[in-house]
Amino acid sequence: QSVDLIVDSASVAWIVMDNKTKGVNVIDLDFVEDMNSVLDVVEDLLQNKPTIKIIIFISAKKDSFVVGADIASIYGVLDQKVAEAGSRRGQALFDRINALRIPTVAAINGVALGGGLELALACTYRFSVEGKKPTLGLPEIKLGVIPGAGGTVRLPKVIGLQESLGIILQGGSISPKKAKTLGLVDELIPSNDRFVGEDRFLWNVRRLAIEVMDNGTTKKNYHANSIKNLALDGTRLGRKIVGNAALKKLDQNTKGKYPAPYAALESVMNSFKEPNQRALHTEAQLFGRMAVTPECKNQIAVFNMMESTKKINNRFNQDEQPIPIRDVSVIGAGVMGSGIAQLILSKGLSVYMKDIQDDFVQRGLDYIKNILSESVSRGRLSPEESKSRLSKLTSGTQYQPLTNSQIVIEAAVERMDLKKKILQDVESISSDIIFATNTSTLSIDELASASKNPSHVIGMHFFNPVHKMPLVEIITGKQTSPKVISTVYALSLRLGKTPIVVRDGPGFLVNRILGVFMLEAAGRLFAQEDGDLVQIDKVLTNWGFPMGAFRLMDEVGIDVADHSGKTLTSLGNRFVLSSTDGNTVEKMVKKGLLGKKVNKGFYLYEKGASPVPNHSGIKELMPNYDASHRKQFSTNDIIDRCVLLMANEAALILQEGIANSPQDVDVGMIFGTGFAPFRGGLLNYVDQRGIKAVVKRLLELKNRFGERFTPAPLLQKMADNNEKFFP
Ligand code: NAD
Repeated sequence: QSVDLIVDSASVAWIVMDNKTKGVNVIDLDFVEDMNSVLDVVEDLLQNKPTIKIIIFISAKKDSFVVGADIASIYGVLDQKVAEAGSRRGQALFDRINALRIPTVAAINGVALGGGLELALACTYRFSVEGKKPTLGLPEIKLGVIPGAGGTVRLPKVIGLQESLGIILQGGSISPKKAKTLGLVDELIPSNDRFVGEDRFLWNVRRLAIEVMDNGTTKKNYHANSIKNLALDGTRLGRKIVGNAALKKLDQNTKGKYPAPYAALESVMNSFKEPNQRALHTEAQLFGRMAVTPECKNQIAVFNMMESTKKINNRFNQDEQPIPIRDVSVIGAGVMGSGIAQLILSKGLSVYMKDIQDDFVQRGLDYIKNILSESVSRGRLSPEESKSRLSKLTSGTQYQPLTNSQIVIEAAVERMDLKKKILQDVESISSDIIFATNTSTLSIDELASASKNPSHVIGMHFFNPVHKMPLVEIITGKQTSPKVISTVYALSLRLGKTPIVVRDGPGFLVNRILGVFMLEAAGRLFAQEDGDLVQIDKVLTNWGFPMGAFRLMDEVGIDVADHSGKTLTSLGNRFVLSSTDGNTVEKMVKKGLLGKKVNKGFYLYEKGASPVPNHSGIKELMPNYDASHRKQFSTNDIIDRCVLLMANEAALILQEGIANSPQDVDVGMIFGTGFAPFRGGLLNYVDQRGIKAVVKRLLELKNRFGERFTPAPLLQKMADNNEKFFP
């Protein structure tokens, strides 16, 4: 079914992988069974009539070799022993390949991830189609497990300890080009173009394989680099140094919240101590242990959510064909405008970037050029590609050139009057252009009220830094047309982002939820109740927030946070602080404590040093402030006051129809704010605590701290009916 065997006239056996039930080669139970059956035949042939001299594993799927194990089966497994047995099955299969008496070749025609790369590692040779995209990797860590089919044992022996830890502990991927320099790939083959009716890739694979055959079965000395690495890895001291450095980095990066990278490190280090079979056994045990952790289940849930968000929301594109976009104008060459322009150029589209003054335009251009030259110097981009991208960038202070564009993305300063004026200026030049604003808080409907063509006005909210943050929040106004939604949706996907579509309303989805969070931490716990910002931030990061509330406000900008907070007050009293508490942030703005951009806010920032709390700066605003005598709260209170309030706001957002689904809420929070993936998302976390228990706790907090903790009617109803957000 999924695996076929063909023997050609030159005694080359081709094992063709083509998982018929899926668009790509996923290693599921059927695949394993089919591969085992084919290996039975191969072993039989080798035993009885040794007519085959080399075996080549190929994929029948376009641009993709094998994409890895079946994630659904890992998600579904609840028994550690069952998970361990699954890992052993994969290992046994690849061991059979590894033990074949004749050379084997993995002909990697594209993506080889997880089990796909582990299969290739079991082969004698790896020939890959050349390319600069990261297509080869072991992403298991990102799903809360470890490579469980020999990856942690075989990869270090091929490319060395240090390089393999770099890939395994980050769940990273590398390009074939890099793989060649590391010795992971033996030969690079020009891309898969057609060649007189034949497949040039396979033609080249076969040619090289026959060369290998003719030279006998010993592997050529392809791996100068890996031999060098292995020499380093050969000493216990050398390994210890590398291992300890990796451990330290893990502690920093994961804060001990993710068990899988630690298990992977253990397995890799162990593979140097134990003989192969024992090491594989340990790998399987660790895999089994990881596969049943809540972190694994939550990380897979997040992965599934991201995948299905793309599919579900694709309905926007099914209803209406998107308008083809070739040329985009970006208004504003500041932090966001230049970031957005850079992203668009990287996807091969043309950009016109406009600002009001030549020096502002120049600042944006410098930013883009810097990013490009950094990519060139790191070998990620060829000088030609960089040049070609720049050739598609034009800039200036005039509106006229945007007549070439199908869409304009407005990223000027956050002021309604200004944005309305820009909209009208744009419409006077090009009346039917799509006007997508990157506003963080301003109402799309109000902006559209200034338009001659409100159906073309939409929100396209990128997050900072644009190239890193995966989310785009698409905000539809009452009159935004389906075609415009579909176009912006398709463009977001093309830019490599995860889009969610929400309705207009103060703060939309992400900033509204972040708003409650910041308000509770800074306005209430800190300003009103004399809390300790260091303690609060520490508790929050220990729980899994990428940074504490005060660090986050500094990062966002205290002025921006203040402005955003004020926009939210129209949502009700829960967003209104008493004048004294509200004043703290306002006073900070007046004093110029604007956060990281000016190196001072709640913290002080010095290049190369960790931020330190800005106690003296704060004391100037709050005369009674005494850093050493601030009130300490219980961890539970800090977390529940912040997180459950966010969850309650999310429930209100769902109830009001601002967001379409719990999934959109969780995707928005994880990909727009870095909400801890190991918690599975904000509403997933509520499900795990149980909605009844959450409502009970909210009521208790309401008694102690006030009305803002009143459970949202949706939560109350779900608790009464024993419902959950996710099945
Ligand atoms: P910024 O101050 O860095 O840049 C704004 C730029 O717009 C400036 O260079 C300014 O000269 C220019 N500008 C003003 N009027 C203009 C006009 N008529 N035509 C062309 N350019 C004009 O601001 P930013 O941080 O890039 O924010 C831009 C927008 O993106 C705002 O609406 C903001 O709310 C939103 N946003 C910001 C962030 C963030 O973290 N910085 C995140 C998401 C969204």
